[in-house]
Amino acid sequence: MVALQAVSGQAEMEAALDFDAIVIGAGVSGLYQLYRLRELGLSARVFEAGSGVGGTWYWNRYPGARFDSESWTYGYSFSQELLDEWDWEEHFAAQPETERYLNHVADKFDLRRDIQFKSRVAAAHYREDTRDWDIALEGGRHYTARFLITAVGVLSAATMPTIPGLASFQGQSCHTHYWPKEPVRFEGKRVAIIGTGATGIQAITEIAKPAGHLTVFQRTPQWAAPLHNAKITKAEMSRIRANYPEIFARCQETAGCFIHAADPRAALDVSPEEREAFWEKLYGEPGFGIWMGNFRDILTDRAANALISDFVARRIRQRVKDPAVAEKLIPKNHGFGTRRVPLESGYFEVYNQPNVELVDIKETPIERITPAGIKTSEREYEFDIIIYATGFDAITGAFDRIDIRGVDGVALKEKWRDGPQTLLGILVDGFPNMLMVMGPHAGLGNFPRAAEYSTDWVTRLIRFARERGLTRIEATTAGATAWTEHVLEASKGLLFTEVDSWMTGVNRNVEGKEVRRIMRYSGGHPAFRERCEAVAADGYRELALA
Ligand code: NAP
Repeated sequence: MVALQAVSGQAEMEAALDFDAIVIGAGVSGLYQLYRLRELGLSARVFEAGSGVGGTWYWNRYPGARFDSESWTYGYSFSQELLDEWDWEEHFAAQPETERYLNHVADKFDLRRDIQFKSRVAAAHYREDTRDWDIALEGGRHYTARFLITAVGVLSAATMPTIPGLASFQGQSCHTHYWPKEPVRFEGKRVAIIGTGATGIQAITEIAKPAGHLTVFQRTPQWAAPLHNAKITKAEMSRIRANYPEIFARCQETAGCFIHAADPRAALDVSPEEREAFWEKLYGEPGFGIWMGNFRDILTDRAANALISDFVARRIRQRVKDPAVAEKLIPKNHGFGTRRVPLESGYFEVYNQPNVELVDIKETPIERITPAGIKTSEREYEFDIIIYATGFDAITGAFDRIDIRGVDGVALKEKWRDGPQTLLGILVDGFPNMLMVMGPHAGLGNFPRAAEYSTDWVTRLIRFARERGLTRIEATTAGATAWTEHVLEASKGLLFTEVDSWMTGVNRNVEGKEVRRIMRYSGGHPAFRERCEAVAADGYRELALA
């Protein structure tokens, strides 16, 4: 039962609700949102499709899965006790460590008692007469709540390729996102992998080690760069712990909430020797420095972008022995950094192994999956295992998979058909009392850093509403339109907008996702926070409150 409000007329209505708030997803943002809602004294229930906490780090347990954020920038910052007691083992933690961390958080703050696992939300309908949400789970159970908070992540709706014959394959097959908990044995097996995004690159590097034979089906090569991961020693962990305030402050200052910030110089401002030396240094350093700490213009200026692309291409040629294979691994249709840069740990050297073969499916397209393997325009390959590292219906996909309906039964999917429209990536006009943590057009970046901020903002708004007895919170159409226009404006001149990728909302395995759209705010997180703070400081004037 919910805590009764001291606002006349509302008490009965509140008491009839199952919860004050329902949160979808028990990943990084959902766990923290639950913690904050409890602090406010709200009754809350989290519905989670998986059988454990962790979201991304619960599902993606494929070999090689790890993040490209420095671990010590990835943990939650809200609890000093948590920071004091948790030791990261690696600078870039692998999936098991991150899953352990999120389980530790769930246990420490006793979060599990308000999380209902194996509960996938199928529908959420707003009811104007009672100003609440009716939420239906797959299987038919319904729950009601004043607030619906989506914490569904940005890459959680995995997509299979639309290749004929998928179901006919007689061996083992799996999408990397749905990797089984039991270990998969690759020794002596003939393995295929389709997809060479950040996921494919990590999986290929690991699976090539034990596999009898690995065939990589590549449609588009990637500008991957070295991760340079390492273990964290006890002494290093002590130094990191002592520096947490500076580390989190640094992440607040940078565009992507990472420790890396763009160099103020332009690539052509310096001599070729100086440029080369700088890039050599970045290529040799851990993490996203080569992408986010590079010259300020490599992602906006075509000449600068061509130069850094040439630098990385030369590195690929040095690392891959067969020149013909090296050429296939060098992207030709987009420049460095215009797609999310995958960080790798020996990826290119994999192609020097005798048990690994690269098939360029732009040259010889896959025609179908057969009972025995994969048939391209050139030949049929036989496999024991086929792995689909084919990505996600990003950002809006997880929303599209739920039948979300706002005022007058309008479907969110329909409203966003031509691209998302939100206020700050948090609210949608016509969908009162629905709050999105890291929704479309929010400031993305190092996920927990950005998600903590969005969660805190959502929590402040709910507190504001409850203190005033407000039961209906909605973005005004003018507010949502202004934010959407600002988001579109902020992406102008950025080279990534000219390239198909999940960052521009393109996924040809999903109907209606063939054309590019602006899916996230590109003005940088400091500017995003500034705008969010201004909206709050102004008494939420871009919101209709009642
Ligand atoms: P992705 O980047 O979208 O890559 C999907 C891959 O599958 C691409 O190579 C794509 O080819 C290919 N593909 C899709 N449909 C296909 C089809 N019908 N036939 C043949 N090939 C097909 O997805 P992802 O690799 O899962 O990565 C998504 C994002 O997740 C990353 O960019 C990153 O943000 C995040 N991630 C992070 C980490 C980390 O932190 N280290 C690790 C993994 C993932 P095209 O390129 O030609 O479309």
